[in-house]
Amino acid sequence: MPETEIACPVCQSPLVFDATLLVRGDKITCGTCDTAIGIEPGGNTKATMEAFAAARRTAEALKVERKKRG
Ligand SMILES: [Zn+2]
Repeated sequence: MPETEIACPVCQSPLVFDATLLVRGDKITCGTCDTAIGIEPGGNTKATMEAFAAARRTAEALKVERKKRG
């Protein structure tokens, strides 16, 4: 089974999942922060990964904000 590892966009924990489940429309849930991550059935993987990257940038920006405030 093809397994993919990504960092959770919310808590940055590594998530290992079977990419075929996502493509089928199943969701994966982060065991650390309980965020459900999934794509629409028939959606394309590239768009999903781009959305994921955007979410990660947002999470990183939030982290920077927090750091600035101390
Ligand atoms: Zn998480």
